[in-house]
Amino acid sequence: MKYSARMDEVKPSATLAITSKAKALRASGEDVIILAAGEPDFDTPEEVKKAAIEAVNSGDTKYTPAGGRLSLKEAIKRKFKDDNSLDYDVSEIVVSSGAKHSLYNIFQVICNDGDEVIIIHPYWVSYPEMVRLAGGVPKFVKTSAEKGFKAGEEDILSAVSGRTKALVINSPSNPCGAIYSREDLRKIAKICIEKDILIISDEIYEKIIFDGQEHASIASISPEVKAKTIVVNGVSKSFSMTGWRIGYMAGDKEMIKKVNTLQSHSTSNPCSISQAAAEYAISKGLTEEMERNCSKFQERRDVLMKGLLSIDKAKPFKPEGAFYFFCDISGYGLDSMTFAERLLDEAKVAVIPGAPFGDDRFIRISFATDVDTIKKGITRIKEWAGSL
Ligand code: PMP
Ligand code: GLU
Repeated sequence: MKYSARMDEVKPSATLAITSKAKALRASGEDVIILAAGEPDFDTPEEVKKAAIEAVNSGDTKYTPAGGRLSLKEAIKRKFKDDNSLDYDVSEIVVSSGAKHSLYNIFQVICNDGDEVIIIHPYWVSYPEMVRLAGGVPKFVKTSAEKGFKAGEEDILSAVSGRTKALVINSPSNPCGAIYSREDLRKIAKICIEKDILIISDEIYEKIIFDGQEHASIASISPEVKAKTIVVNGVSKSFSMTGWRIGYMAGDKEMIKKVNTLQSHSTSNPCSISQAAAEYAISKGLTEEMERNCSKFQERRDVLMKGLLSIDKAKPFKPEGAFYFFCDISGYGLDSMTFAERLLDEAKVAVIPGAPFGDDRFIRISFATDVDTIKKGITRIKEWAGSL
């Protein structure tokens, strides 16, 4: 069988692959510490589950419009207004089966073969692959821990060419937890306006932010920037609803129409029951519960930071948001894949290698797990790394 050339260069998602390998090891009886999770360990709030059960019982089990039902879009519209001071019409919003799906669809509708998309390093593993799947070419902008893993104006300008179609910004960032301030965003937006580049703003970790910082959406800088931006968000991280698969985007009406068309021929509507649950979560906001979870994440970050600093050659970057540490392990002389594989095989600790995030000198360590597990993990990493 000759398969499509499109798939030739696409690698499976390392984040999903390693997490399932670690879970399988655990299921087979191994005592594995998993510091790889890309999802909150907290359960979906009870009242959200109830809303879903009610949806099932009331027969909300049929197709909905392909881009999501109106009442959910109205809840998302209110969320944008309340949280981000952004005014969207419901015709500028589309609901997808997870933010990953939203992003995939965006690249599908904007890219022609050879179009370039600027992706800032270190980046979430799926961006480059999604761009390639759409026929586009990822153009990477290198940053450094010393510069807070943030791209400046010159870095971005040096990646712009006549084929640049879009730029992806992810704040707070997966895998390093860096947050772009409003001022940082203003500078990037200025370039995008001048060079006519679409801004794709992935704000999925918006609610997981530490030390009293504030999330700024690049679209809220000015109406001109808003018109050039497509904002992507979802309920996975903010409401611990990863398995429910609801994401959404807001932006230019024409693009939204095209995404609707694409969904109407591919996935059809996101699950009706998940839409009901997401509508409940987004409408209620569930601020108290979410703030409680956020302070737990902050406590875990601090425990992990202290632990990592006590490991000889590990150089952790302190995250300001999300739930991952990007930690420099280059001092051990191993590439990130070997480091992560040996750490799992020999010390039974699962982390994600940095290579698929664009940096082979790093590993990603998740703190979406309880403090005891984090402490145990640190003890094992320290002992194992000490023996290298
Ligand atoms: N963007 C980033 C940066 C992520 O880490 C994730 C998590 N997988 C997503 C988007 C997609 O989230 P979901 O598809 O679960 O909404
Ligand atoms: N975003 C998560 C991660 O980076 C979930 C896995 C995925 O969708 O890639 O681990």
